[in-house]
Amino acid sequence: AVEAVDVCAWFGDRLVLEGVDLVMPENRVTALIGPSGCGKSTFLRILNRMHELVPSATLSGEVLLDGEDIYARTMRAQQVRARVGMVFQKPNPFPAMSIRDNVLSGLKLGGLGCSDKDALVEQSLERAGLWREVRDRLDAPGGALSGGQQQRLCIARSLAVRPNVLLMDEPCSALDPTSTRRIEDTIQQLSQDVTVIIVTHNMQQAQRVSDFCAFFLAAENEPGRVIEHGWTSDVFERPVDRRTEDYVNGRF
Ligand code: ATP
Ligand code: MG
Repeated sequence: AVEAVDVCAWFGDRLVLEGVDLVMPENRVTALIGPSGCGKSTFLRILNRMHELVPSATLSGEVLLDGEDIYARTMRAQQVRARVGMVFQKPNPFPAMSIRDNVLSGLKLGGLGCSDKDALVEQSLERAGLWREVRDRLDAPGGALSGGQQQRLCIARSLAVRPNVLLMDEPCSALDPTSTRRIEDTIQQLSQDVTVIIVTHNMQQAQRVSDFCAFFLAAENEPGRVIEHGWTSDVFERPVDRRTEDYVNGRF
């Protein structure tokens, strides 16, 4: 599991997240939902130590990955990022680099080697749901693929590093409905052996793909907090907090 314990985050002296306590279950899909600006992306970046790449960013609390503190002195950020992969909103393969090399491009992360690169490329593309479409043109540039294919290529690139956890920040928001469905299928497949944490603004998507869900909210001039979390069916069908009920029903 991935566990946040009393996580607070600042940019400069501005507190943007406060007291986040959340256990995101192993080999399940967790959806982080909530209005714009409530700190979802910030929280996601805290989970793989990308938050510290922003010079003004600080944080308190703990993040445990299988019980281990990822901010412990003995943990290197690169190792953490190899165990906790990230896929972004806009597909960002290296456009001039071949599909094959794009998949392999993350391997240096965490000093990972690979004895059979062809097998790893095939397996990663297969898991990302892209193998059949590109198997005959692995030398074509990544930029030659459609938007939905590029996003699946980015997923394959993350998977090649064999992460235990995959973070996805609005991975479908730049995609058409068909591509979106394909990525949703991929996400559900992946959760057989990867812990997936996805940020989405799409409530239908959250209901379709996630098992577990956390609702973030920031009142005006206040930091973001987790208002409610639990199994997705409970949060959507029997929300405890009035604000959750309003949000999941599209009332703000
Ligand atoms: P959205 O749904 O629009 O993507 P979000 O929930 O992902 O929003 P964040 O991007 O995490 O929200 O932002 C949370 C707060 O932190 C916002 O008030 C934002 O302005 C602030 N913030 C985010 N990144 C930075 C940064 N690099 N420097 C300063 N402030 C930042
Ligand atoms: Mg965001």
